[in-house]
Amino acid sequence: MYIDAHNHIDFYGEKIKQALNIIKKDEILTLACSQDEKSYLYAKEIALQTPLIVPCFGIHPWTAHENHRDLDRYERYIEETSMIGEIGLDFHWVPEKEKYPHQVKVLKYFFQKAKTYDKITNLHTKGAEEEILSLIKKYSLRSPLIHWYSGPFHVLKELLDYGCYFTVSVDIGYSETTRKIVEYLPMNRILTETDGPTALQWVNGEYGYPNYVIAVLEKISEIKKLPIEESKMAICDNFNSLLKIESRCSREKYQS
Ligand SMILES: [Zn+2]
Repeated sequence: MYIDAHNHIDFYGEKIKQALNIIKKDEILTLACSQDEKSYLYAKEIALQTPLIVPCFGIHPWTAHENHRDLDRYERYIEETSMIGEIGLDFHWVPEKEKYPHQVKVLKYFFQKAKTYDKITNLHTKGAEEEILSLIKKYSLRSPLIHWYSGPFHVLKELLDYGCYFTVSVDIGYSETTRKIVEYLPMNRILTETDGPTALQWVNGEYGYPNYVIAVLEKISEIKKLPIEESKMAICDNFNSLLKIESRCSREKYQS
């Protein structure tokens, strides 16, 4: 079983059938992150078709300025979701500084609720790595999952020391920063992701189907000098230690 620990299934649009067929055929356990209420409800609906899709509720930092009011209306989704995400801060791709207070307000709300309901968070940290680190510490969150990290190394070290896990994304093989990060991280903190179909398009122009996660796994194995099966098993174990009760990755399935 493969793990896609950060995907956006609503981005597949009319190609969702094709994406789901790939997810089922290759057995890719997929954390379907949401950006807002609408994308979460869509993920929940799609998840009825296969247990391989795990809907995650979050308000993405890019939509925080539109969704920062009446935050308590989201509490029921936070309570029911297996993992909170995608949430975070983005001070890099969002140039409008007037939006930052909304991002911070939304993130603090989610961190407070993550603490209350003991939920794992799937975090976007672009250009705000130090701020995220200090908030993780402030709210003493349990093993947050850092998505596609590309920030400074001293913060990476602190996040690792804190107990964070990290998803490696589709720029592996294209980015020197990502290669160095994978070299640095221990295998027991690494997960794989695709970040939806548009992330690979951003990297190399190709449409990213869920099975690109296999290429990500192969490239991790190459860097770590490990047999692919061993990396696959390690990532499965990492997933299971993150999400303890629901949606376990099945080791047996690929061992048989
Ligand atoms: Zn994302």
